[in-house]
Amino acid sequence: MDSRNSASSYALDASAFYVGIPFLSVGGYCTTPAVFDEVKHIKKSHGAIEALLATGSLQVIDPDKYSFEKTKSMARKTGDYPRLSQADVSIIALALQLKIVLLTDDYAVANVAATLNIPIQSSSSKGIKETRKWISYCSACGKKFGPIAKECSLCGNRLRRKYKITGG
Ligand SMILES: [Zn+2]
Repeated sequence: MDSRNSASSYALDASAFYVGIPFLSVGGYCTTPAVFDEVKHIKKSHGAIEALLATGSLQVIDPDKYSFEKTKSMARKTGDYPRLSQADVSIIALALQLKIVLLTDDYAVANVAATLNIPIQSSSSKGIKETRKWISYCSACGKKFGPIAKECSLCGNRLRRKYKITGG
């Protein structure tokens, strides 16, 4: 028996399918029914998607209600909610629930995921190399803050945000 379990290690949003991520390498990929509905019409990869499902390389999983609601409320906090589709929310929630890396190219999706401490990889750079996290920092004193902080507790300056590369 294969000692590796079938657990997924990457959650794919629609943009990851459009750039062909799951077809580039064999991996434990998963997505949600809502994202799957968005991408299954991609004709050129239709057969490939079927094959991924058949071999277990791709799993379609619905996130639990707790993760979905937690994602929605965080998206409202960060102000990204109006830019997110239900499919977007569902894939963030799934990555949150399974504690796996989210592949996305969507800024709003990436922002909410980062705020939930979900590791993100860009789906546009093939063979993604980095895991990035948003951090907030004060441009005056350099103090770093969590992703939700808005101003520096020392100087009261509005914080800037940047990606921090956390993985190689
Ligand atoms: Zn400061």
